[in-house]
Amino acid sequence: MSLIVRFDACPICGSSDLAPSFVYDTPPEGETKFDFGETPYQRFYRVCERCGHFSSNSDMDLSALYDGAYVDATYSDADGIRRTFEKIIGLPSERSDNTGRVACIEAFRSTHSAWDGKEAPSCLDVGSGLAVFPYAMRLTGWRCTALDPDQRAAEHARSVAGVEAITADFLEAEPGSLGRHDLVSFNKVLEHVVDPIDMLRRTHSCLAPDGVVYVELPDGEGAADDGPGREEFFIEHHHVFSLASLALLAVAAGFRVLSLERIREPSTKFTLRAFLEAAPDQQ
Ligand SMILES: [Zn+2]
Repeated sequence: MSLIVRFDACPICGSSDLAPSFVYDTPPEGETKFDFGETPYQRFYRVCERCGHFSSNSDMDLSALYDGAYVDATYSDADGIRRTFEKIIGLPSERSDNTGRVACIEAFRSTHSAWDGKEAPSCLDVGSGLAVFPYAMRLTGWRCTALDPDQRAAEHARSVAGVEAITADFLEAEPGSLGRHDLVSFNKVLEHVVDPIDMLRRTHSCLAPDGVVYVELPDGEGAADDGPGREEFFIEHHHVFSLASLALLAVAAGFRVLSLERIREPSTKFTLRAFLEAAPDQQ
């Protein structure tokens, strides 16, 4: 099934005031090479004049992004997954995005009174990939479940990272089949789906009472100043967010923002991160 993605209006706020932004007729350096058949490489972003959200448009068949080639390139074999995992967890803390992420969540946990006295809160990590995040969360006392559509990633999460793992596509999983968790995390996941509002809205069914969602997204406002070659604008990202569009995404999906922050990560990524809770009418 082919997948052509174009947005005539801002997919987050609905505004039709979209200004031209970066245009690509060759892949930027460092981008994964996908097979788009005969269709020439051509894509462009537009930026919403109202909320600052970047949306990606192309006539290329983007189903190639999801047909397994992407995962194959990332996880060539079980040893390859393990080597990459070990390389990342071996990074000194000042160079590790993951260490910063876990520290941020631990800082939140220490101030979030609804979690006072919770011995081992549970976390569902959606799109866990190499499972470096659930692994590090487990070491700080969380019960973690890694969710990934790729069987190899789930097996790796179980056997190497030592966490529970579920092989499933979050968008296709039965509501309720993923358990209910104190924290559900989306670490650079929602920019990869065509409809991030729909994906985030589905999270309500796997949140415990007082549950919180942690979201990390690429920061288009920060990255755009560095030009079109930034990885935040690679082809896998249908969406690149602004502070405003992340907040509007949360509201549209039935959440309210507890905190929202712009950071520059050790890897140099421009990133937005937020903690969300269900809006009162969703609880
Ligand atoms: Zn907008």
